[in-house]
Amino acid sequence: RIAIAPSQLQQGQILLTKEQQHYLVRVLRLRDGDRFIAMDGKGKWWLSQLATEQAQVLQPLTVETELHVSITLMVALPKGNAFDEVVRTCTELGVACIAPVLSDRTLLNPSPQKLERWRRIAAEAAEQSERAFVPTILEPVAFNTALSTVNSHQSSVNSQQYICEGRGNFPHLRYCLQNKGQESIVIATGPEGGWTETEIENAIAAGFQPVSLGRRILRAVTAPVVALTLISANFEV
Ligand code: SAM
Repeated sequence: RIAIAPSQLQQGQILLTKEQQHYLVRVLRLRDGDRFIAMDGKGKWWLSQLATEQAQVLQPLTVETELHVSITLMVALPKGNAFDEVVRTCTELGVACIAPVLSDRTLLNPSPQKLERWRRIAAEAAEQSERAFVPTILEPVAFNTALSTVNSHQSSVNSQQYICEGRGNFPHLRYCLQNKGQESIVIATGPEGGWTETEIENAIAAGFQPVSLGRRILRAVTAPVVALTLISANFEV
């Protein structure tokens, strides 16, 4: 499988880049006439046939690997490169959008190169998981800014919003999820030091329901994966 940009597809032909030719011919050892799958990361896959520096589209393919709910994961950025693994694993689990947020206790202010890196990781993970869509990775913003964006957007769709909090006696996410035709879920997980009380209050005011992921305190990089696993299990067909 290779990912292509829309501009590469012209009149049933795929104009391959040098890197793609190298990958198909040198790495995958394909020859002219061999078939492979081209995907645009936006829901379209094509069975294609290699023909020297280009490829011919043989037929569109139907891909049914997406969840029937759109999940946005709001994650307070963890230390170092730990977010890479969150992006990779949550992409495998079916996330639609990842919104990295800077919370009161976030220790990191990422460089713009990090955003490019996370987008590349999401594209690679989507390809290896045979996803029809590559998740969107938003630019990191302050948690309060993210809350107001979600609030204005979600009011128009049938949505549930949750904020994960290990302290307090909140209901388990598993018992809060409803599988009754909702279109989207937003779920937020905090940083190593946890959310502040004000952040939890602001989230509740913005329509988020505080939920538990169990009695044990999970690491900041484990919590998003557990949350995604529970949600995807609930919405898998
Ligand atoms: N020092 C924090 C504390 O004592 O609460 C722990 C923060 S935890 C390492 C990082 C984040 O993961 C939390 O802010 C929360 O969003 C999520 N989390 C971890 N364990 C959780 C649990 N059992 N239930 C719900 N959320 C949890």
